[in-house]
Amino acid sequence: MLAVIRAVRQRAPRLTSRCTDAALGGLILLVVTDLIVALTLRLQGLTTWRPELLALGLATWSVVPLALLLPWRRWDPRMALVLPVVAMAGLTALSVLGDGLGAAYVGVYVLSFVFTGLLLPARSSLWLLAPGVVTYGPLVGGWENQVVVRLGIAIVVWLLVAELLAHLVARQRTTVEVLEAATRRDALTRLDNRRGLEARLRFLEAGDVIVMADLDHFKLVNDTHGHAAGDAVLADFAALLTSSLRAGDYAARFGGEEFLLVLAGTEVAGAGDVLARLHAAWARVRPATTFSAGYAVHQGGTDPAVAVAAADQALYVAKRAGRDRDQLAAQPHEADLPSARAAAQQA
Ligand code: GH3
Ligand code: MG
Ligand code: MG
Repeated sequence: MLAVIRAVRQRAPRLTSRCTDAALGGLILLVVTDLIVALTLRLQGLTTWRPELLALGLATWSVVPLALLLPWRRWDPRMALVLPVVAMAGLTALSVLGDGLGAAYVGVYVLSFVFTGLLLPARSSLWLLAPGVVTYGPLVGGWENQVVVRLGIAIVVWLLVAELLAHLVARQRTTVEVLEAATRRDALTRLDNRRGLEARLRFLEAGDVIVMADLDHFKLVNDTHGHAAGDAVLADFAALLTSSLRAGDYAARFGGEEFLLVLAGTEVAGAGDVLARLHAAWARVRPATTFSAGYAVHQGGTDPAVAVAAADQALYVAKRAGRDRDQLAAQPHEADLPSARAAAQQA
């Protein structure tokens, strides 16, 4: 059903723009029910269309365009339960007006609970239970003992189907969220990786400072003390960034021993102070390893990659000037982008 909803949305984005997934699912359920009934009534022996049945058909079909106009997004998602209730009421009316013709479509009740489980929060099926129970007798032709027993079994099936599906959907959603978060996170430093960084850079504002920080002679740490020791240094540096940056600032592992910081609304002077404090704090954690940094202020209206590229170029200036220092970038320029992007990709 979720795939059908996606396909309908893609084909008619404007028509379905007011509908939540639940409302769209309910509408699909309604259309499918109307179609099944329209295509199979003849098979049930109905050869002449009585006016009351035509009126009923017209009424149930007209719900569809009307529902497309309703502001579903402003309402509680459970409002979408109105749509399967319309389907149930329509089938029951078909039985009442058409001498039990609706009874053949009792399977639509199960579909309605499947819809509830797939598209609405847990326990929403309880709201559908009352209309299901009230319409069941007239739908199948009375309240004889056998019907009551069938209804009892049906209630158990309806609730089980809906709640099991709701449980599975919630679990799948959590799993997807956890996996998506994992794809944005670097396992060693627990900071965002390049994927997470891309998302953060989309919210860059004018006056935010981009810092590219790179540990100096880090290869030597690995070569002298081994990769595990190198990893510990990287983890320590990330922990220092996490603990020293203000709320609103941001740190990501750009790659290898290179880190990207966003100092929100800091401007040049503020960034210099932040970096000086970071150098002093890092010297207390790992006196033997220094870092160099290049930084650039993001200009409003430019691609964030421009400031990233400028900070990256400034980092190399800091390296060439002897390391363990910071370098402010020359005014970032769009023209610097291609060469600096290539440099960033090499990192
Ligand atoms: P520079 O001061 O010019 O930056 O020199 P450097 O030695 O820090 O830079 P270089 O690019 O020569 O070496 C970076 C090293 O970082 C090489 C690579 O093995 C190491 N490295 C990259 N990622 C990791 C990692 O996850 N763990 C460890 N232990 N080492 C890493
Ligand atoms: Mg380095
Ligand atoms: Mg490097």
